[in-house]
Amino acid sequence: MNRKITREIRVGDIHIGNGMPVVVQSMNSTNTLDIDGTLRQIRELHEAGCELTRVAIPNMDAAEALNSIVSASPIPVVADIHYDYRLALAAIENGAAKIRINPGNMKDDAAVAKVAAAARERHIPIRVGVNSGSIAPAVVDRFGGVNADSMVFSAINAIQLLERENFSDIIVSIKSSDPRLMIESYRLLSQQIDYPLHLGVTEAGTVKEGVIRSAVGIGTLLAEGIGDTIRVSLTGDPVDEVYAAYSILKSLGLRQKGVTLISCPTCGRTAVPLIEVANEIESRIKGLPYNIKVAVMGCAVNGPGEAREADVGIAGGDGEFLLFKKGKPIRKISKDNVIEELMTEIHLSGTESQNRGK
Ligand code: SF4
Repeated sequence: MNRKITREIRVGDIHIGNGMPVVVQSMNSTNTLDIDGTLRQIRELHEAGCELTRVAIPNMDAAEALNSIVSASPIPVVADIHYDYRLALAAIENGAAKIRINPGNMKDDAAVAKVAAAARERHIPIRVGVNSGSIAPAVVDRFGGVNADSMVFSAINAIQLLERENFSDIIVSIKSSDPRLMIESYRLLSQQIDYPLHLGVTEAGTVKEGVIRSAVGIGTLLAEGIGDTIRVSLTGDPVDEVYAAYSILKSLGLRQKGVTLISCPTCGRTAVPLIEVANEIESRIKGLPYNIKVAVMGCAVNGPGEAREADVGIAGGDGEFLLFKKGKPIRKISKDNVIEELMTEIHLSGTESQNRGK
């Protein structure tokens, strides 16, 4: 895949842009004042593979709480700022690795200039986070509505404001809850700037719907080579955002993290409890550190073929399964033991692949 080469921006020890692996981000759903709860969730996100997380800074107490969070967090922490530039200054003071501001609700240019000066002094980047829901009314009027033109204008305007302050440590997002608008806006923006782009479909919905909308929006752009970092926004546990992000990236061959499960849709030939097996295996492989492929197939039609492609695979027969490893049939497994035996084989293959990678 030809990826658009953008400038490289560092957030803590994470490199974004310039063809680096697409970075997976999430955002804490905890109250930032609950320092222990926020850190607990950051650790869960980190374990799932999240590389950068963002916390809400709605008031000065939250900006001060950031200090304890940043110092104990295993990953860089981004401060999410709306309306009040003084919160951005306080978050920078308290160790934020990056500041996200929304130009649509920070109307005073002088305020943005102060944030840029403070971020420059500490060498931390700013994300210009444009949202279709908060484009300034004058910009909406000028471009005849909330559309790709008004979104891109808002982003470029904010970028130019930062550049006038001699600040270029910038990452840009231009999110919408409508994947079509989001795709069109990022395409247009990508033609005009070479700052790294943070992709997301905002307010995408619940885990079920939101994953689909995000996969369409984020996946379409990534497939065109656009995008340096992503967040899948879901109404649910943010850990699911991280799993979904990797699923999108793995589907496009952009990141390899965790076990990839392929399973067949079942049909009239299926004579094993395949759906239960696939669901159980899916939940048990979440978070495993192996970069391997596992196939759970219903029958001998496509089963052995798909299982051949996988590091470990099972193909259903008449009440039992045939286990494959790297295309070779190994042994039959009773449907009663299939979960435990397949998990044992996954751990064996995963460990072997880790050792080979050393
Ligand atoms: S692999 Fe077999 S059981 Fe599964 S959908 Fe294909 S034909 Fe049906």
